[in-house]
Amino acid sequence: MTAVVKCPTCQRPVEWSEQSRYRPFCSERCRLIDLGAWLTEQHKIPDEGASPEESSGEAHSEPL
Ligand SMILES: [Zn+2]
Repeated sequence: MTAVVKCPTCQRPVEWSEQSRYRPFCSERCRLIDLGAWLTEQHKIPDEGASPEESSGEAHSEPL
């Protein structure tokens, strides 16, 4: 029994077996394309935890 998955990049059916070393991708090329796209997305998303100081220290300043 062999499972078949779709390549996330090109939607081609990929046999889920030891022979498909780039599974779930059909090839190294598709794997790199998807990885590249993912990394690009990561760069676009602003880092929510970038400035922790803004929420912790400044808002609670002691009155003099
Ligand atoms: Zn592919």
